[in-house]
Amino acid sequence: MTDERENESPALLEWAEVEEYIQRASDAFESYRQYPVPQRMDFLRQIGREIDTIRTDLIEVSQRETHLPEGRLRGEIDRTINQINLFAGVLAEGSWVNAIIDTADPQRTPIPKPDIRQMQLPIGPVCVYGASNFPFAFSVAGGDTISALAAGCPVLYKVHEGHPQTSLLVGSCIERAARQTGMPIGVFTLLMVARDVGIQVVTHPLITAVAFTGSFAGGKALYDAAAKRSVPIPVYAEMGSINPVFLLPDRLKLHAEATATGLVASNTLGAGQFCTNPGLMVLLQSPDTEHFLSLYGKQLAEQTCHAMLTPGIYRAYTMGVERLKSMGTLSLLGEGKKSELAEVAVPVAFRVSGSDFLRDKTLREEYFGPASIHVVADDEAQLVEIANVLDGQLTVGVWCTDVDIDSFRVLFRVLEHKAGRLVINGAPTGVEVCHAMVHGGPFPATTDARSTSVGTQAIYRFTRPVSYQNYPDRLLPIELRNGNQPGIWRKVDGELTRKSI
Ligand code: NAP
Repeated sequence: MTDERENESPALLEWAEVEEYIQRASDAFESYRQYPVPQRMDFLRQIGREIDTIRTDLIEVSQRETHLPEGRLRGEIDRTINQINLFAGVLAEGSWVNAIIDTADPQRTPIPKPDIRQMQLPIGPVCVYGASNFPFAFSVAGGDTISALAAGCPVLYKVHEGHPQTSLLVGSCIERAARQTGMPIGVFTLLMVARDVGIQVVTHPLITAVAFTGSFAGGKALYDAAAKRSVPIPVYAEMGSINPVFLLPDRLKLHAEATATGLVASNTLGAGQFCTNPGLMVLLQSPDTEHFLSLYGKQLAEQTCHAMLTPGIYRAYTMGVERLKSMGTLSLLGEGKKSELAEVAVPVAFRVSGSDFLRDKTLREEYFGPASIHVVADDEAQLVEIANVLDGQLTVGVWCTDVDIDSFRVLFRVLEHKAGRLVINGAPTGVEVCHAMVHGGPFPATTDARSTSVGTQAIYRFTRPVSYQNYPDRLLPIELRNGNQPGIWRKVDGELTRKSI
């Protein structure tokens, strides 16, 4: 399997070529940011159409490279196209620029009030690092690339070595779409580069932001490299998460079986290779908890997975599981079926006491794959203590009833500080692409808790607010002019309105 992949790997670019591409992206920025909105929308929608046209090839190639099932890949392509069209819709609606206008008051005393108008402007060329586990939705034409392009920023995309041919195919879709809709050369560049060259891109003076999805080690390395630049830039790294799920007593008393079914399915989905995979369950000691744990173990024993994304990810998973098995404080709760095929993950679940969990920080690390640790707390105080020591997460879940909600108010308040998305009675896997989504969270889940990498708010990672003071109308961006020709919602003197001034 490894040899096959190596034979397929296209040649890597040298730094001198990459530098030229960065310059080209920078040159493209000034014209691209000023392209009329309908033209930029057209570009985005055309990317979606190009992907749709070659979807059969894309599924075949990506299945070979990632081992993900056909149905999943088909769904991911749909999601990617929907995501592209959602951003085109954001541009069409227009108010994403957050136009805020404070009109002048020359009569104000003791000093006249100036006219000040604010909106979001794109920041410049963005470097995007694609993920291994989503060959479409978090890769070449995924949310990072599309939100940057929607904002008006050219993109240089660092290919993940797990699916190079898929990346080339999707990259050609973006290039064709750019040509057909008259975009400037350099608006999008696919970079097939070695790790050190990738770092050089991040530290290049013309790069203005970085978006990344992957491991903690990778994201932090890019963040640290960017921090050493003489001109710092934002790095939006979405990294590991164990997505804790709290299972409250009344829920387990009434719905133990359905809860086990839901969580086993979520934990083993896609061989557990989701950044939102529920890797940690927290429960209170009781006979109902014992019943739930035995159901979970039994249901897990029925599960089989497919081959993992890359040999490296498989190695990391099996080594992690071996380490957990060797720990005296953990006991095996259940294990899925082994496969004759190569690089297939075996699902596994462990149990540990609340006290042992609190003593051992390594149990808070991510095991990327279908593994879970079930922490059994002695009492409610210990359950809340466990919530308190958790690191920042992408998601935190609570499975509960109305009775539980009333009894565990303190827990809910603690959890609000821990994650970008809080889920009640639902699997954390499956991230809706919509306006209200936060796919982010406090460090170490991400390097910037103020941002999201999924949903339309992702666009603000690649913009900055600018105020124009006493600017003549004709010199202002069209969104801020008195006439409001785009007809967008604006905040004028504190009131939301679409009226002209
Ligand atoms: P990864 O190792 O972080 O690699 C992602 C990208 O970052 C690749 O393009 C890689 O380049 C680059 N990279 C990694 N380490 C780097 C470093 N020290 N300096 C510069 N660039 C670096 O992620 P992966 O290959 O997808 O999976 C490995 C692990 O990441 C998994 O076992 C899992 O723990 C985690 N993961 C997390 C998520 C998530 O959504 N949070 C998703 C997938 C994986 P090269 O290929 O050139 O090394």
